[in-house]
Amino acid sequence: MSHIEKCDATECAYNSDGFCHTLAVTIGDPRGCPDCSTFFVSSSKGGDQEATAGIGACKMASCRYNMQLECSAPSVSIGHAEEHVHCLTFSQR
Ligand code: SF4
Ligand code: SF4
Repeated sequence: MSHIEKCDATECAYNSDGFCHTLAVTIGDPRGCPDCSTFFVSSSKGGDQEATAGIGACKMASCRYNMQLECSAPSVSIGHAEEHVHCLTFSQR
């Protein structure tokens, strides 16, 4: 599973100190943007603080790292872009 190296969306419930602590996230939305679909703002923090996340699934078939709707990049970065929280490693084929 591709590893999430860092995520600067510190407002997300799964983020602590720039790291994602859910087990796996899904990337991609119906508009065709590489959004983190797991992004969620809450008054309380969640996830497993002992774990750092990977990419469970990715709908961005247009990305060069996408193989059969799974991410094949060794690691990815997530962060703010275009007023959303995107996979910053996305690279158009
Ligand atoms: S990768 Fe997604 S779910 Fe994980 S902390 Fe960042 S925005 Fe939240
Ligand atoms: S690098 Fe590409 S395939 Fe991997 S999660 Fe990001 S958008 Fe999806």
